Amino acid sequence: MNFLEERIMRDGIVKPGNVLKVDSFLNHQMDISLMNEIGKEFHRRFANKHITKVLTIEASGIAIAYPVANEFGVPMVFAKKSKSINIEGEMYVAEVESFTHKNKNQVIVSKKFLGPDDHVLIIDDFLANGCALQGLISIAESAGATVEGLGIAIEKGFQIGGRVIRNLGYHLESLAIVDAMDADTGIITFREQNV
Ligand code: 5GP
Repeated sequence: MNFLEERIMRDGIVKPGNVLKVDSFLNHQMDISLMNEIGKEFHRRFANKHITKVLTIEASGIAIAYPVANEFGVPMVFAKKSKSINIEGEMYVAEVESFTHKNKNQVIVSKKFLGPDDHVLIIDDFLANGCALQGLISIAESAGATVEGLGIAIEKGFQIGGRVIRNLGYHLESLAIVDAMDADTGIITFREQNV
């Protein structure tokens, strides 16, 4: 088991509705040394890629993307959730349906911060059905940027997102893949990964 899987086993809580709560260390209270370790691990896994920007989505993606960008020594850009629809022109826009809140948000990135010369590493905390990642991919592609890879802290392997993204041919790395979790027993099963 790697460091993140161990932490999930210790402090993660399985909630009904296929939600894994990790708010004591990952997306509400944050364990900064764990974040830094995540940054180093993604840097190791994408070491052979030329990365010019790390792209994520607010809010909880930011905490993961920050140490990753720090390791690569490049800027981090986060897509903002926006209610305004009158922004096309200066902004790349994508529609993202939230898995946890079940609502749709437009997410935007200023055209100033992403362009055709960029080689992007997309980072997020969770992967469930893949809407957040698809939105970020669509923003990178609207910018004419190259998506070099995608890094996820926790993938829920029993939901379709991971399969969809890998089938599209993207290099997706997830530090922990949960293949099953049970809200009654609290038992979490991880996928074996050779990395
Ligand atoms: P997707 O777009 O892949 O369906 O869902 C990914 C987004 O939903 C992530 O950005 C994350 O914020 C949220 N999310 C999905 N599943 C979970 C979960 O089990 N626990 C938590 N805390 N967030 C989740």
